[in-house]
Amino acid sequence: MVHFVGAGPGAPDLITLRGAELLRAADCIIYAGSLVNPALLALARDGCAVYNSAEMTLEQVLAVMQEQERLSHETVRLHTGDASLYGAIREQMDQLDRLGIAYDDVPGVSSFCGAAAAACAEYTLPGISQTVIITRMAGRTPVPEREALSKLAAHGASMVIFLSAGMLPAVQEALLQGAYTKATPAALVYKATWPEEKVVRCTLGTLAQAGADHQITKTALILVGDFLAPAGYDRSKLYDPGFTTEFRKGSEG
Ligand code: SAH
Repeated sequence: MVHFVGAGPGAPDLITLRGAELLRAADCIIYAGSLVNPALLALARDGCAVYNSAEMTLEQVLAVMQEQERLSHETVRLHTGDASLYGAIREQMDQLDRLGIAYDDVPGVSSFCGAAAAACAEYTLPGISQTVIITRMAGRTPVPEREALSKLAAHGASMVIFLSAGMLPAVQEALLQGAYTKATPAALVYKATWPEEKVVRCTLGTLAQAGADHQITKTALILVGDFLAPAGYDRSKLYDPGFTTEFRKGSEG
């Protein structure tokens, strides 16, 4: 069987217990070597076959999975963060279906959660934004036209931009065509949860300059939105003394 496992954003203790168990038991691990922390491979048992998918094509990955299945082995396909975001898992699953190979999927802590934690930020601040847009800038991989960054920017929602730290001037320009302004708070979070993590706070107007100043061109997320500003939000209803919930009677009403 093949287990897709989210490795988490970097720190090796941010994989789930279930994911770690599967790594320990695996006969074969195919890991996304461009971003998965190799420290996780220390969990592999002696004799476990280890492949770095950064150097492989989809066909080569599938050939390894097929051979391991023939031997009745357990394979872990280790993806960075959570595999449902930019993980290219659907194409693997469809081929496994075709080959009659069973699989399951273990979620992981996505880097967008790691980045929020690094910045001690809450994406969904009451009175500021109740929506998080997760997207990327079109590059060598296209993005559907209706999802162009300039169009998504119309909402002024909290935004997390993956895979785009190498295109900061274009990101900045596109976002300024929407509801954000040059003064909108922004942050670059480089290698969230890794020892070399960096949180660079700036504004949308200084985003590209901040990236250049700190030489951040990859393995970073771009966070944009007023959720990064420390003031001006409403307190939550949930913990308001006056607010009645299913679990607590409030003082009003
Ligand atoms: N599935 C992954 C995303 C893979 S796409 C997840 O859930 O996080 C790869 C992109 O993710 C990188 O270009 C970068 O934008 C972002 N990324 C991955 N790990 C990161 C980290 N630790 N810190 C900041 N950005 C990260």
